[in-house]
Amino acid sequence: MLRVDLRELRHGPVEVQADVAASDAMFEGLDLDLVAPVEVDGMVQAADSGEYLFRAQVGTRARSSCRRCLTDVEHDIELDLNVLFSSDPDAADDPSIYPLPVNPTHLDLGSVVREELALAVSPFALCREDCAGLCPECGADLNAGPCKCTVAAEHN
Ligand SMILES: [Zn+2]
Ligand SMILES: [Zn+2]
Repeated sequence: MLRVDLRELRHGPVEVQADVAASDAMFEGLDLDLVAPVEVDGMVQAADSGEYLFRAQVGTRARSSCRRCLTDVEHDIELDLNVLFSSDPDAADDPSIYPLPVNPTHLDLGSVVREELALAVSPFALCREDCAGLCPECGADLNAGPCKCTVAAEHN
């Protein structure tokens, strides 16, 4: 469903709407813990010769670990995709351009969504801005209050 036959695009823009389950094979192997379906709402259209423009809003929800205290954090992901598919070899170095094979027959929008989601998830999630993290000595969660090490240090 996130695959568009180029013949369809000869007649004009094609709407792309999909609701992909988080467990879909499309997201396999991604270092991404999705907790909601991935909603894709947009359109794809032919641009200049051999180029195609894919614009979409992508929304989902993912879970990661707070990098300070390691508790689970869920956060919404909202992406505005604006992607150009091009078979121009000169465009291959541009990260916002997706290369197309010679004589393409379809556009693989799924791999774009997959890749952009992977980029959108920050490896530096925090459960909150001022997360106190874990004590480097005893591993206690300092959000729950000072641990015995901090108390001891204050007495020194
Ligand atoms: Zn935290
Ligand atoms: Zn401690």
